[in-house]
Amino acid sequence: MRVYNFSAGPSTLPLNVLEQAQKEFLDFAGTGMSVTEISHRDKAFATVVSEAEALVRELLNVPEDYAVLFVQGGASTQFAAIPLNMMHGGKADYIVTGNFAKKAWQEGEIYGEAVKIGDSSDKTYTYIPDVDKLEYTEGADYVHITSNNTIFGTRYIKFPECNAPLVADMSSEIFSREVDVSRFGVIYAGAQKNLAPAGVTIVIAKRSLIQDPLPICPTMLKWKVQDENGSLYNTPPCFSIYMADLVLRDLKAKGGVKAMNEVGEYKAGLLYEFIDNSKLFKNNVEKQFRSIMNVPFVTPSAELDAKFIAEAKAAGLVSLKGHRLVGGMRASIYNAMPVEGVKALIDFMKKFELENK
Ligand SMILES: *Cc1c(COP(=O)(O)O)cnc(C)c1O
Repeated sequence: MRVYNFSAGPSTLPLNVLEQAQKEFLDFAGTGMSVTEISHRDKAFATVVSEAEALVRELLNVPEDYAVLFVQGGASTQFAAIPLNMMHGGKADYIVTGNFAKKAWQEGEIYGEAVKIGDSSDKTYTYIPDVDKLEYTEGADYVHITSNNTIFGTRYIKFPECNAPLVADMSSEIFSREVDVSRFGVIYAGAQKNLAPAGVTIVIAKRSLIQDPLPICPTMLKWKVQDENGSLYNTPPCFSIYMADLVLRDLKAKGGVKAMNEVGEYKAGLLYEFIDNSKLFKNNVEKQFRSIMNVPFVTPSAELDAKFIAEAKAAGLVSLKGHRLVGGMRASIYNAMPVEGVKALIDFMKKFELENK
């Protein structure tokens, strides 16, 4: 039986997409081979890559002068690729709004001066610093942000307006929210949150910014090389790209990013409204910065949290345990989580609250 899976990543995928993949698993596009067996140079597979790229461009309205790349190593490898491709002047700004933002900043420090211009750790990352009041470094090569903070459940509602190119880790919210790509130098996202199985990472980069990687940049991390080779410089994560393509097609059929954003706001709205009116559950994030993808919450005690997680699991609502850094619970309600899943969670929380007054 399929459960409602609230995992932060890898996470739930649309059922119809999984069924389609299952149906064509042994014979992909009439080749008589599984997509997992086919050469990445085969025409049938090249079509998958180019279609996935075209769909990313269409769904996010990516300008012509941007590269769209499918690379490996997860978002974490991009923490290094960013300075290695962009840190020409030797310094860059970082806004640290959570654990992944901190890791990106720390990785930046390996390659140059990574200036932490904003930090919300004073209130356990429950807010986003006011981007209009930050002191951006003169001559910085870029400004790095994490647009949605997966562990702490916050998101930017306004992006920095800075002279340096803006680089955004959108791993846990890409395709859930309309963004003006032209305002960014680089957007990147590991696929396993809101797009596909683990193994592929999307990089959307303005081409003029990626022409001159640092001499020490490994070839595989040179976005320019990946771009020149249409993401086929070496063997790509074929199956993950194939799955991403199916999810992107599905997304388009469901009305694209605008529709996802509307449903996402609706689902998150239901859950936050319930939590705010509950006497048992609490969400500690400053309201205006609440993520619509990751919703952390707690009861008054760790024992009750553990009881909730165990009983929810028995009721078919799984992976609700909060990240080990914060404890409590977290419901990740990405694009693929149906409205019924969120309603089932709320019903369960209501029942649990009545039983544990
Ligand atoms: C999950 C996540 C990462 C890490 O992704 P990997 O693919 O595991 O390297 C980085 N940033 C954000 C915002 C994430 O949610």
